[in-house]
Amino acid sequence: MTDGQWGSGPLEPTLRESSPSGVEEAVEQLLDEVGTEPQPDSIIPLRSLRGRVAIVTGGSSGIGRATAIGLARNGVHVAFNFLDDGPEARERAEEVAQTLRQMEVRVFFAACDVRSAQAVAGFVTTAMKELGGAHFLINNAGIGRDRALWHMSDEDWHAVMDTNLAGAFYFTRALAPHFRAQEFGKIVNVSSVHGLSSEFGLANYCSSKAGLIGLTRSAAVELGPSNVNVNAVAPGYIRTTQLTDRVPAEIMDRARERSVLGRLGDPQDVAAVILFLCSEVARHITGAVVPVDGGYLL
Ligand code: NDP
Repeated sequence: MTDGQWGSGPLEPTLRESSPSGVEEAVEQLLDEVGTEPQPDSIIPLRSLRGRVAIVTGGSSGIGRATAIGLARNGVHVAFNFLDDGPEARERAEEVAQTLRQMEVRVFFAACDVRSAQAVAGFVTTAMKELGGAHFLINNAGIGRDRALWHMSDEDWHAVMDTNLAGAFYFTRALAPHFRAQEFGKIVNVSSVHGLSSEFGLANYCSSKAGLIGLTRSAAVELGPSNVNVNAVAPGYIRTTQLTDRVPAEIMDRARERSVLGRLGDPQDVAAVILFLCSEVARHITGAVVPVDGGYLL
């Protein structure tokens, strides 16, 4: 069905020239064609998000914050967690919750260390009870502890692997039975260009983000039959997050130069793709890794 067949396109002369029964035939033919070519629920891509419930890990800052706000702006009830490592962290989380509430959606937030399977299971149970279910999971919480691998401590290795990879596994495992039972769910894992390529000092980070791509594909295979889409985004260097505030300016400049679009991304650039992957417009995409990197990897 082409656009031209609607309204004053090629169909119009046929209708004008037709007898009344010819008109009926043409209309019937049109309805048949529409019926055999199912369209996504909505032509407004994000309308399908409204009324759903999302869990966003690490929603108090950067990409997680932008995603939580983007979802709420589109009528999604949001639960998010953060790592309570001081009064500043709690203040950041409270500010985000306040912003979300202004969008008239239900909000639940709590400190929950994604490295603890037990804490994650508790958070998921309470969030679902508070918000009345769960439809989307955004595994976003992540950290970096960059250094040459011969100087990398066990603690540096485990902190990054446990946060970036095990955390995503714990959340996915906790929600999988619910998503399978309701035969619906969208999971988006926030990987990185460093899950697909490497640079000096990132052995732990690259391993965790490449592992997250493996987890994405495995979960897509296992949950696909239950109508659950599992995808990953691979952001390049993103400005204005706590993570990149610690990256030296010359590395950020080099990243800007390497990106064919000649700029660094913003958290909203990543959030927009995450929202798309949660929408029904993306219903036939699963197991994919979508770069959001301005062409950094080309
Ligand atoms: P931020 O540091 O701005 O935000 C990280 C979020 O994760 C915060 O809410 C933080 O909570 C939370 N968090 C960290 N550790 C834990 C933990 N153990 N348990 C629970 N929550 C935790 O990071 P970004 O927004 O930059 O990064 C978000 C994701 O995007 C990460 O996975 C990162 O690897 C990935 N990414 C980022 C890129 C970038 O250039 N910024 C590029 C590519 C990927 P709190 O504030 O309380 O510590």
